[in-house]
Amino acid sequence: MTFKDFNLKPELLRRLEEIGFEKPSPIQEKAIPVILEGRDVVAQAQTGTGKTAAFGLPILSKMKKGEKALVITPTRELAIQVSEEIFRFGKYLGTHTATVYGGSSYARQIKHIENSEFIVATPGRLLDLLKSGRIDIAPNYVILDEADEMLDMGFLDDIKEIFKFVPSDRQTLLFSATMPEPIKNLAKTILKDPEFITITKKQVTNENITENFYVIDEYERKDALIRLIDYKNPSKSIVFCRTKKDVDDIADFLSGAGFEAKGLHGDMDQRKREEVIRAFKNDRLEILVATDVAARGLDVNNVTHVFNYHLPLDPESYVHRIGRTGRAGKEGMAISLVTPHEFRALSRIQKISKIVLKEIPSLEDVKDKEIQKILEKITNVEPTKKAIEIIEELQNEYDLMTIATKLATMMFAKDADGKEKIGKSVKEAKRLIERDRNSGGRDRRNSRNSRGGFRGRRSGGRRRG
Ligand code: ADP
Repeated sequence: MTFKDFNLKPELLRRLEEIGFEKPSPIQEKAIPVILEGRDVVAQAQTGTGKTAAFGLPILSKMKKGEKALVITPTRELAIQVSEEIFRFGKYLGTHTATVYGGSSYARQIKHIENSEFIVATPGRLLDLLKSGRIDIAPNYVILDEADEMLDMGFLDDIKEIFKFVPSDRQTLLFSATMPEPIKNLAKTILKDPEFITITKKQVTNENITENFYVIDEYERKDALIRLIDYKNPSKSIVFCRTKKDVDDIADFLSGAGFEAKGLHGDMDQRKREEVIRAFKNDRLEILVATDVAARGLDVNNVTHVFNYHLPLDPESYVHRIGRTGRAGKEGMAISLVTPHEFRALSRIQKISKIVLKEIPSLEDVKDKEIQKILEKITNVEPTKKAIEIIEELQNEYDLMTIATKLATMMFAKDADGKEKIGKSVKEAKRLIERDRNSGGRDRRNSRNSRGGFRGRRSGGRRRG
């Protein structure tokens, strides 16, 4: 199938050829004919599937003189991107686009809106302009792009209100990567007899791997790592770091904290490398700390947890790293520490994975879990004759409570310590991610280097039971 198979205006076909669009993507193949027919559409599709062309091309093709289209997008970044893409397609039609978002001049935007066929706007600013009566538009086509994103960002009420200002005689299209209940309900109220289109996303990561991420500040990395290890209690795990220096640093830090941990990186001589790998394979090491390069080709089974001490910069490395766990049908867990500076890498990884935001367990949570584990063990233990004799003997010196406490101390050593609370709550993390998206990463760039941040040094000398 080619774009010529659709009944698009020649100006568009010529342009598509020029910019190298040959084959329609799956969403385009399904959506373009339906939109050309004039039907409303609900399309479930991820970013990067070619949504912009899927709605942009048929609308540009159908648009008569004097008609307008309104696209509503969650973020400024996306608004600009969509606007540019539409403008690119519309070159030989002489299409004008206006991009409308908060934080830029009203006067300029209003003027552009009046002169443009395509208006691409974020909900807040658009509603603001509509309510104040500064613009009066009657779009013939309304497109909601990334509707679930807008829901997550708290724009649902704004969107409902925006629809009070647009004529009911219109064609409406709704795009969303997921279809939560509020979006389905919205679709019912704003769309007429829509055609449903679903494009399943190519999820790259393995189903057996549970993927979580935790939002922290830079100075919390080590504390967060230890806390998560204390809580998850991995029997065999890999901690991925970006640099050799980090590898040495974290391996020392974890050994100091009482774990069987060793580093692996390219500067180590071959014998030492092989020794470390053998120890890890034979379960003499609990934790392997490694760079991506050093871990390349490392073939070890039964890795229960993969930790990303830093997020890798590209999604491919992420997929590669976490693929070390969850092998041979076994369950695996991938845990990533993310600071606001890494939100961009995070958003790329989110597109190809099923990574979920979590909160770092508190000290209390760790204790609760430990007690649970001890309780399970105690329940299953049959007292031996020797144990009974020892306790009877000990009772000559101590009372039972003291004996129990001392024995427990011997067995379980000193465990989790550190601050009660590490990292951001889910709510706070969501707010930060959203703000970052809205600002198009400006906060991230501005705050770089602005804060020294202290490196939390832990008091060493922990032993494990
Ligand atoms: P989405 O809106 O779904 O995130 P985009 O519309 O931005 O995706 O498309 C992603 C990229 O793919 C853009 O750079 C776009 O120009 C390009 N693209 C979309 N459709 C095609 C196609 N049929 N052939 C070639 N490139 C395409």
